[in-house]
This record gives sequence, C-alpha cells and structure tokens, in this order.
Amino acid sequence: PKKAVLGPLVGAVDQGTSSTRFLVFNSKTAELLSHHQVEIKQEFPKEGWVEQDPKEILQSVYECIEKTCEKLGQLNIDISNIKAIGVSNQRETTVVWDKLTGEPLYNAIVWLDLRTQSTVENLSKRIPGNNNFVKSKTGLPLSTYFSAVKLRWLLDNVEKVQKAVREDRALFGTIDSWLIWSLTGGANGGVHCTDVTNASRTMLFNIHSLEWDKDLCKFFGIPKKILPNVRSSSEIYGLMKISHSLKAGALEGVPISGCLGDQSAALVGQMCFRDGQAKNTYGTGCFLLCNTGPKCVFSDHGLLTTVAYKLGRDKPVYYALEGSVAIAGAVTRWLRDNLGIIKSSEEIEKLAKEVGTSYGCYFVPAFSGLYAPYWDPSARGIICGLTQFTNKCHIAFAALEAVCFQTREILDAMNRDCGIPLSHLQVDGGMTSNKILMQLQADILYIPVVKPSMPETTALGAAMAAGAAEGVGVWSLEPEDLSAVTMERFEPQINAEESEIRYSTWKKAVMKSMGWVT
Ligand code: ADP
Repeated sequence: PKKAVLGPLVGAVDQGTSSTRFLVFNSKTAELLSHHQVEIKQEFPKEGWVEQDPKEILQSVYECIEKTCEKLGQLNIDISNIKAIGVSNQRETTVVWDKLTGEPLYNAIVWLDLRTQSTVENLSKRIPGNNNFVKSKTGLPLSTYFSAVKLRWLLDNVEKVQKAVREDRALFGTIDSWLIWSLTGGANGGVHCTDVTNASRTMLFNIHSLEWDKDLCKFFGIPKKILPNVRSSSEIYGLMKISHSLKAGALEGVPISGCLGDQSAALVGQMCFRDGQAKNTYGTGCFLLCNTGPKCVFSDHGLLTTVAYKLGRDKPVYYALEGSVAIAGAVTRWLRDNLGIIKSSEEIEKLAKEVGTSYGCYFVPAFSGLYAPYWDPSARGIICGLTQFTNKCHIAFAALEAVCFQTREILDAMNRDCGIPLSHLQVDGGMTSNKILMQLQADILYIPVVKPSMPETTALGAAMAAGAAEGVGVWSLEPEDLSAVTMERFEPQINAEESEIRYSTWKKAVMKSMGWVT
C-alpha cells in the first residue's frame, strides 16, 4: 500500500518510574501518531529500599521503540520520517556502570529509596559553613531523595563500584545518561552526558553557574571523573547506534537531540513558558512545578528550586519552584500489589465511586517519608479514622483523596512563596485518567482543574526539545502554536467550608504519621 505523506516526525522516550513509553509525534501538528508502553518492575529488597534493573529499563526502551515502529508500519507511516528523538526520564534515580563492558555495577537506586537516611544524618552534621551550604548552591534540601547520597552509598558499600572507580572504568548517571550512553553506542563510543534539568537533581550541580560544583563534590566525596558532561536540554548529543543483538536498528543514525527530566518535560509539554505558569503531574509521585522565569526563587515553605529547562546551548536558563510529593499513583499500585483489593489501577475509580466518600477515613501514604512541604524522612504511612463501617471502597476513596490533599499542601506553600494564587491548575500524568480524582482535586483546591485532551505532555515536551534543536529544526517553540489544544475542565462542586473541614482533618492525620521511625 502507498505510504501516507507526512511532515517530519519526532520520537520521544518517556522512561518513568512505573513504565517506559516510546511515542511518535507529527512535528507540524503535535499530533500523537503511535506509541507503545511497557511496565517496569520495582524491587524492594529491604524495608525502605527501592531498586530497578538498568538493563530491564534499557530493554524496555528497545521494546517500546520496536513495537511503536511496527505500529507505524501498520498505519503506512514511513519511519524514515523520524528526524529526531528526545528523552525524558524519572529523575534522581542513580546508576553506575562499567564503560568497557557496558554492564551496570549495581541495580539502579530509585529516587524513592530510603537506605541513605543515616548517610544523610551523618552528612548533615558535617555541613561546612552555615546550614544553607547545600540549598544555596543546589536549591535542594539535604535528603535521601537526590542522587549524590545514593552515589555516596554505592561508593561506600559496593565493592564492584569501588574497584571500577579505582580502575577508571566507572561512569555515573541518572537514567537519561544511562539511556543516551547506551543508545549512542554504549561501550563502542557512547556519549556520556546529561542535561541541566537532570543535573540539577543530583545535588552536585550548581544551579547558578550551571556546572558541577567543586565544593559539593568534595563534601559528598564524589570523584568528578565519573560525572557526565552537562549539556542544554535541546541540542544534538549523539546519533542512535544500535547494537546488533537488538532489532531496533530502524532508527540507526537518528539524532538524540532533546533531554529533560520528566517534570521539566511536562512543564514544556504543557507550554508553561511564562513566569507564573504551573502544572501538576500525577504519576508514581506528584510534582507541581511553577515557572519562575530566568531567576532562581528560593522557598521558605519547603519547596525546591530547580532548573526548569534550557532549550538550546545559547538559550537562557529558566528556573522553577517545585513541590514534590513522593507517593501519588504509587498508592494505587500498593492497593493492587500489596493489598490486592484491586486488580488494575483503573479499578480504584470503580471502588471509590461506589461510596463517593471516605466516611471519615484518612490515608497518609508516607511510604517513603514525607517530601514537600514537611521533608520528614521518619514519617510512615497510616490509615486512620476506621470504624466497623469502613470497607475497601472507603480506603480506595481515602487513597485518592490523599493525593488531592497533598497537592493542596503544595499549592498553599507555592501561594505563600510566590504570592500570586493560581486561577486554575493544569494537570497531566497517568492518574489523571481517573475522573473521580480530578473532580476531588477541583473540590479540595476550590479552583478549576484543567487537563489537555492529549495527556502525554511529558513525552510531548521531550519531543519538542528534540525537534527544536539546532541542526534538526523541525519544531518551532512558539507558545501560540498550541492555543488550539482542547482541554477537559473540572469545576469545584462542593462548598468551600466543607472543603476546609476535610482539609483540616487531613492535616491532623499527617501530624500522626510524622516522626514515626525513631
Ligand atoms: P510514572 O511517570 O511515574 O511512571 P505514570 O504517569 O505512568 O507514572 O502513572 C502511573 C501511575 O499512576 C501508577 O502508579 C498507577 O498506579 C497510577 N494510575 C494509573 N491509572 C490510574 C487510575 N485510573 N487511577 C489511579 N491511579 C492510576
């Protein structure tokens, strides 16, 4: 059959904590043409530990590329129209591998992992100068969340890593670096790089000078030679070079020219290019980012200052204030995998709908401590307010409500830091297909919640960065371009007073979850 004529296409790898996707967009219309998704295993070898297999992650990327290309073929779309590939990834997750063999030297330590709690406590006793040492350079609080302490743990505890560092064979990277190095040839000339957004989550990167920070590397005891080169979020890093054992050879030679941490990618994909524009993404965790323009805004209310994006080598850097919630969609997965009260993520909506209330039950899913605005690593999950009347439907409802309350806490902190309340909330992410969640969110925030009808904004952001890169130039980043995007809107339906009562009871529950581990 005759192949359909199309403009240039751009592919995007979206490597999340829960799953990997590859998506292909038409660069002229931003239309999603085809995609494939594979769920990723998570290992919990000890209480508080969360690991993933870097090779499984890489394989999932190849599988998604292959399947998406097959689907494009079935649509009579010629894959040689794919002119660039962008990468967006779960941030902070830490990998160390051997540059000669391409083998990871340990599992990836996932951002949620808590094993470094004592490392953090010890480091915090040795902070040079004032307590602001780390935050003033990185925008981040000293926490188990960020890569530097995970890398410190690997250097202290894994003999293979120590040996490889001594023999000059070790490379460190977040998932973006691991993927780009592997996709551009791996041990046969792979490019070892990261972008400014991912670098800004390592706690080794100075967000003002946009370079690895000498003092931070010294403080954490990290050898600079194992760190990737830091590049902008939109430029050609290297060309796809696929090993012969894999079948994804179709995209051989296509430039990889976009790279953004998933939350930055969603900010770009939601077209939040102006100061004060914000989005909230509901995936494994939940992340609200507000663009603060070319200036760093530091929070007094537990928010992070982070690099939003730098879309080209000579383009200015933009910053964001971020409220991070560790557990959002992960609570659904926990109800599925650990309690077994649902068989699929979608089923939670059915249970919640049956009752339409938590009936006074509150669920604080502090599985990995609490992130913003509390930053309490010793918090643990609780379900409270139970009576003999409570059933699994109420617990499912309370789990969804918890995601909304956590977002409310962040929005409140953001309003206090920026002083300009949001008139509506732009949302995306896997959980936003849940309509009850979206309605609850509007009720609890008491502002409208607005969702683009094409929900894959993270991948779209990475594709835009890749397509707009110098030397590719198939995507123009004019904000007007997407005025035609169709949106779904959820208006608040309960009264403000009811919303406030529920919110204050939630806060009482949070207080009970804090300081649990002593
Ligand atoms: P990530 O980017 O972190 O990999 P996704 O954006 O793909 O995450 O979202 C997946 C998460 O959302 C999973 O934790 C899953 O349990 C949860 N999820 C997916 N669909 C629903 C739903 N309909 N209701 C509630 N939670 C959901």
